Amino acid sequence: MPVKYVSSRGEAPALGFVDVLLAGLASDGGLYVPETWPKLGADAIAAFAGRPYAEVAFEVVRPFVGGDIDDAALAAMCRDAYGRFDHPAVAPLTELEPNFWLLELFHGPTLAFKDLAMQLLARMVDHALKARRARITIIGATSGDTGGAAIEAFRGKDNIDVFILFPHGRVSPIQQRQMTTTGDPHVHALAIDGSFDDCQAIVKKLFADRDMRARLALGGVNSINWARIVAQIVYYFTAAVALGAPKRQVDFTVPTGNFGDIFAGYAAKRMGLPVGRLVIATNQNDILARTLATGRYTLADAVATRSPSMDIQVSSNFERLLFEVNGRDAGAVRGMMGELAKSGSFAVAPDALAKIKADFAAGRTDEAETLATIKRARKEYGLLVDPHTAVGLAVAGRFKRADTPMVALATAHPAKFPDAVFEATGERPALPARLSTLSSAKENYSRLANDAGAVKAFIESHARTVRAEEKA
Ligand SMILES: *Cc1c(COP(=O)(O)O)cnc(C)c1O
Repeated sequence: MPVKYVSSRGEAPALGFVDVLLAGLASDGGLYVPETWPKLGADAIAAFAGRPYAEVAFEVVRPFVGGDIDDAALAAMCRDAYGRFDHPAVAPLTELEPNFWLLELFHGPTLAFKDLAMQLLARMVDHALKARRARITIIGATSGDTGGAAIEAFRGKDNIDVFILFPHGRVSPIQQRQMTTTGDPHVHALAIDGSFDDCQAIVKKLFADRDMRARLALGGVNSINWARIVAQIVYYFTAAVALGAPKRQVDFTVPTGNFGDIFAGYAAKRMGLPVGRLVIATNQNDILARTLATGRYTLADAVATRSPSMDIQVSSNFERLLFEVNGRDAGAVRGMMGELAKSGSFAVAPDALAKIKADFAAGRTDEAETLATIKRARKEYGLLVDPHTAVGLAVAGRFKRADTPMVALATAHPAKFPDAVFEATGERPALPARLSTLSSAKENYSRLANDAGAVKAFIESHARTVRAEEKA
């Protein structure tokens, strides 16, 4: 059954899954959502119990692909992608207290939950390019986790060149080494003499360069890509089923930045999973918690915290929820986004806010509470947790209910943020064995000026797409 995707701003053509996968953002600046939500019945959900993660992934992702990728190929990609995780369950649950669980999403190759989406996304992109005999040049900016997860997932693909910009000297040593030690000549880590915002501004400029965009077939991998959300729906199903769904409701708390991960939980609910409350956990960059409390979405300057992957100003995927709760009125979404661009703020209509609050709650933490939570988790549960996970645990504690299991998502491995963990506990978490060579591997990266022209020149002289055309 073909599935169509529509833009939240209503002025881009409806596309099938693979076109949405390769496009990322819609041409009208909107985000793609499925025209209708696929449903899974109670029997289908119950049948997930005890099945391997890769098989559940296939069942959950398949209705979104709508035949654009054939079943055998999709099943193989799921097996391959999730066969690379350190834990046989892929996303195991750990009991913290009665009815309070930790969902460990950090057993992938780069120790962050982004691997769960990126590993499958890369295989789907590669497959689609081969089918179309096409090539792509991936360009992205990272403050740390996304770049590593993308490089790890996309390296070694014949039809894909990867260029990731990161702020020189401002990512953690582990994050940098994950990007610079692949040894793959077609993966380029570019250390920019500037901030993360500078990196992102350069990437935006290059994407706006129509000639370059067409010639190099530029593609993006940021968190608004619909395929990333789809892959993240899977672990809501596996976790809830392990705790008694579909017979029982389950609540989730999600450390949130761009709203991609928690929107996947909402999507699972729309598909028929009995999700109770979805709790948004933020650090001091609390735009979403403020929006739920006040009904106004108002930008503020991003503050640097110990949970940097949540240090965002604009929560991009929230637009998808706004589209849903405004009755899929694309004109209303365009109005809000126009206001945001003009004045840095917009109001959520009262009935739309009521709908958001029917499914979501929100809470924020400050740095002291985050550190105190890391310390408490060590003492009470005997666990070292990373600062992003700690934000979630702190907020989950306020919202857990006696009769409903609460699942807090653990989004990064503690060894990825050793300084914060040490600060809170006096202990340094060990890197998993398979990453033990990371600190001795040879680094390879190019240091470039904070200048779009310099980055463009570098990419044009290194991307295979351009060179192939020049030879022709
Ligand atoms: C990206 C990230 C988040 C935030 O996820 P969103 O989908 O952007 O809300 C939280 N924790 C970690 C460790 C991350 O890398």
